[in-house]
Amino acid sequence: MDTQHINPIVIRCKNCGGDQSYDIVRQLYVCAHCGTETSLQDKNMEYRNWRSLRHDAVMQEAGKVKQFRCPSCGAQTIVANDDASEECPFCQSTMIDADFAGNDLPEAIIPFKISEGEAKRKLAQLLEGRKDKAANAIKDKMDKLTGCYLPYHIVRGAFVGDMVVSLQDESKSYYPLRAFLSHTAVNASNDLDNMFLDGVEPFDFGEARTFDFGYLNHQKAKVPNVSEGQLLQRVTEETQNEVYDDLKRKMHNKEISVLLEDEGNESVKALLPVYLVKCSDKIAAAVNGQTGKVAILTGKDKNLTGRWWLFPLIATIVIALVGYFIADMEVAMGFGMVFGIVFFVVAHNRHQDNFVKEVVTSGGSFKKHNDTRTVFFNDFGNGEVPTKLRFVTLGRILKILAVTLAVIFLPVLIAAPIQLMRGLPLSSIKIGYGAAWYVTPVFFTIFAIGGLAKAMMFGFPIYEEILPNGKTKRRKMKSSTKVPMPKFLDNFKVLFASMKSGCLTIGIILFLLIGSVAAMIS
Ligand SMILES: [Zn+2]
Ligand SMILES: [Zn+2]
Repeated sequence: MDTQHINPIVIRCKNCGGDQSYDIVRQLYVCAHCGTETSLQDKNMEYRNWRSLRHDAVMQEAGKVKQFRCPSCGAQTIVANDDASEECPFCQSTMIDADFAGNDLPEAIIPFKISEGEAKRKLAQLLEGRKDKAANAIKDKMDKLTGCYLPYHIVRGAFVGDMVVSLQDESKSYYPLRAFLSHTAVNASNDLDNMFLDGVEPFDFGEARTFDFGYLNHQKAKVPNVSEGQLLQRVTEETQNEVYDDLKRKMHNKEISVLLEDEGNESVKALLPVYLVKCSDKIAAAVNGQTGKVAILTGKDKNLTGRWWLFPLIATIVIALVGYFIADMEVAMGFGMVFGIVFFVVAHNRHQDNFVKEVVTSGGSFKKHNDTRTVFFNDFGNGEVPTKLRFVTLGRILKILAVTLAVIFLPVLIAAPIQLMRGLPLSSIKIGYGAAWYVTPVFFTIFAIGGLAKAMMFGFPIYEEILPNGKTKRRKMKSSTKVPMPKFLDNFKVLFASMKSGCLTIGIILFLLIGSVAAMIS
């Protein structure tokens, strides 16, 4: 087999050489051109054979390179024998000789495609107009931007796990699934910030080549230094993130999490081209050497929810204005104070724990097509079968609308039987006096009905088995495992439970409710 020119990251058909992709429903590789089917196990075996052949071939040529260690930052690099430069690409110290370890040699490489000059121009573009400390620090060190191949593990394989949906009443629902990832890049340097390097992804793995020492004639390559345990943890994080992104889109629900276990994956050790300059542990810039995508680490924390105070501020002003128009300035102030506190407490609770390191990115000539595949598997009594889960249906949307309307007109619903018992006609209810209540749900629903809808829907999926011909068939869970749909009144319990700000909110609601009913029937 000619191992020199194949791309070890993309899976090819043994029969015709075309792209072979993984059919997650049937759990095997299928060739798009000739239909040849190969099991995951066979493909992994094929790959392991290739790997040992390659390793022997590469070791025979190991004399063409030497290994250096940086006494200052500890990074180890391999360079071509005739490379005169002994400057550390990460901290610019002079490196010293180290023994060639050779035990972790790369198997694949994506060659540099954009020049150092181009990389500097792209970085300068991103920094243009930024006047913060990080931007100035990077501008000062711009000429130190150096290309280097960084070590990655490209994970490909099958995973089994669960999608976990957290419901509002603190309970969780688990939905078993299988996932296949065709190439997830995991950074194998423990001294380079993982999240920051994620910023220059994606790489186009279609351009990967079998590794050859010839590539090191022009660039240094960093030696991986991540421990087995750290690598495993990074693989878990990165694969779970990919499946999460996939499910988040399909389920229209951000508040899910993913648990995955390896079920037979192979990772290819690869070198990926990156231009890098480090100013400090917290400030750095990187440019993707293949696509030109730029990422800078700014040393700041970024709040994911952005201006968290903006929504409660607007909500408070609106409700104060409503108070002013239906009554007077005093009512406006009262409304503003009471609701303002609630809005800010709720919004602040939601925004805590949302701080991450800020990474700013721009550009890149390659857009990743979504190649993460996930499918649910369920047992309806005859073993696990691939399943589609549906949560949102017309009936359920109508039910949520009905609950919403019932909440909005709750004072009317309470006032009506009271008036009837007092022997008064329904027309005696002064519906307009409930104005303060009617506007309240508009704001609370934004926090609460969303949670209610989620609890109603995501706790109770509609199962559809995916049949071999691609069609789906509605299936019912065995009654022993099935949780009954909540009764209509239970929805109100969930509604209140989902308003986490507690007693204060419930007190205000009761006060408003009793006040509105009293005003209507007086
Ligand atoms: Zn084929
Ligand atoms: Zn160094």
